[in-house]
Amino acid sequence: MKILDSKFVKAFVKMADDGFKQGWHERNGGNLSYRIKADEVESIRSRLNAPGEWTSIGAGVPGLAGEFFLVTGSGKYFRNIIVDPEVCIAIIELDEKGENYRIRWGLVEGGTPTSELPTHLMNHEVKKRVTEGKHRVIYHAHTTNVIALTFVLPLTDEVFTRELWEMATECPVVFPDGVGVIGWMVPGGREIAVETSRLMEKYDVAIWAHHGMFCSGEDFDLTFGLMHTVEKSAEILTKVLAMNPAKLQTITDENFRDLAKAFRVNLPERFLYK
Ligand code: 13P
Ligand code: ZN
Repeated sequence: MKILDSKFVKAFVKMADDGFKQGWHERNGGNLSYRIKADEVESIRSRLNAPGEWTSIGAGVPGLAGEFFLVTGSGKYFRNIIVDPEVCIAIIELDEKGENYRIRWGLVEGGTPTSELPTHLMNHEVKKRVTEGKHRVIYHAHTTNVIALTFVLPLTDEVFTRELWEMATECPVVFPDGVGVIGWMVPGGREIAVETSRLMEKYDVAIWAHHGMFCSGEDFDLTFGLMHTVEKSAEILTKVLAMNPAKLQTITDENFRDLAKAFRVNLPERFLYK
């Protein structure tokens, strides 16, 4: 099958364009990766380029040895992905130790995978393990309202989770495990990858202060939907905080407990006030 005609490539390109249309991808902001299924690799294997040079990932991910990923290119603009995917995205293959990658398709005008490859792959490695292979998508976006909140809220998992849950009734159902937050760090390396992947052990959402968000999910729709839900809730909160007087009424601890019962989700007590 032609690579550009395959379902997972089309879904990847659509999701990137959806994110751009939301305003989350100024310039080259954000990146996306997909852990390709074995049968999908077979369906396109004859169209892959002859193997080239191995390059260091910059982080060890033995749990992903030999896997193939579809990833955005570093410095590529999300707005151009739908216009010319072969220039903006790539299929990479990992070596048998999970230490190096090589490009097998795409980036036809040159370039490298996203500078956040260490974070993407370390997140994939954690999620592959904790979801028993279900999660396949890692998405990083520069979501305006979540970023704004990192300037005015304490940078704790508890405060962000509770405030975001409170802004829209369905939030605790969409992200019952809550969200993790890390303070400002230099992006693009192993250090931030280690911190982020640590959060991915228990959350599907990791917020980078003054930068953006990472979401993990089973497929493109669920991962985009998660990013969209968290950011929408953050948008409501920024509006509420901009208003005077502040909240007159809200969703209470009791309401959350009722919601958990009705929707059969477990909402950890530490996110409730008492
Ligand atoms: P890349 O263009 O290398 O993917 O970087 C964009 C970004 O958002 C870094 O955090
Ligand atoms: Zn970024």
